[in-house]
Amino acid sequence: MKAKLAAGNWKMNGLSGDLIEIETLIGGLSASECDVLICPPATLIHRMHDMAIGSDLLIGAQDCHPELKGAHTGDLSAAMLADAGATHVILGHSERRADHGETDAIVRAKAVTALERGLTAIVCVGETEAERDAGTTLAVIGTQLCDSLPGSSVAAHVVIAYEPVWAIGTGRTPTLEQIAEVHAFLREQLTDRFADEGNGMRLLYGGSVKPENAQAIFALANVDGALVGGASLKAADFARIVTALSDAK
Ligand code: PEP
Repeated sequence: MKAKLAAGNWKMNGLSGDLIEIETLIGGLSASECDVLICPPATLIHRMHDMAIGSDLLIGAQDCHPELKGAHTGDLSAAMLADAGATHVILGHSERRADHGETDAIVRAKAVTALERGLTAIVCVGETEAERDAGTTLAVIGTQLCDSLPGSSVAAHVVIAYEPVWAIGTGRTPTLEQIAEVHAFLREQLTDRFADEGNGMRLLYGGSVKPENAQAIFALANVDGALVGGASLKAADFARIVTALSDAK
C-alpha cells in the first residue's frame, strides 16, 4: 500500500533562525504513519538534510532546471539538489507557472531530469478561478496532467498535487465534493495512461490546508496527502496536519 504524504512548501520563506521549527517537527515525528516532507528554500536544504539524519523527515526542493549543468546563472540542477540532500522536488507550482512562464512542456522536461537523477517529482496542476467559473476545470487539469508528466513516470517517483490556483494562500478551499471530483478524474486519467503505476501514484490536495480542515479533506477517496504552504511554516500547525493524515481512513 502506498504511504500517504504530508509535504510542506516553505516557498520563499525561511532563514537560519527558522530551523528551530524543523527541530521541533522532528522531535514529534516518531509516531507518524505517513511520509513527511519539507521543501525549504534551496539555501536551507543542506542544513535541514543534516538535521534530519536519523529521523523520518524527508527534505525536498521547490524547483529544478531541466538541464543537469551549464551556463544558467542562478539556476539549480536536479543533481545539485540531490547532492544537497533533497529526495523530492516540487515542479510546475502555479507560482512558478505564473512568475516564470513555465509551460507544461518545461515542467515535463524538468520532471524527466528529476527522475533521471533519482528525485521524486511532485507535479502540480490546478485551475484558475476563471477556469473553474467557465466550467473548464477538468479540461484544464487533464491537459496539464497529460503534457506535464513524462512517459517514464512511475508510482514510486511521481506524485501529483491538485492545487486550485484560487485556493493557494487565500484561505479559500473547494468544497469536499469538488476536491473529490478532481481527484477521481486524476486517478482515472493516470490509470488510463499508466495502468497499475497510475493507480499507485499519490494524489495530494493543496490550497489553504490547515489543521482545522485537514481531517475532512484526508477522509476523501483518492486523497493521499497534502501539499501545504503557509501552515507548514510552524511545526505545531504542520504536526497537527501530519497527525490528521496519519489517522485518516
Ligand atoms: C502551496 O504553496 O502549494 C500551498 C498550497 O499554499 P497554502 O497552503 O498556503 O495555500
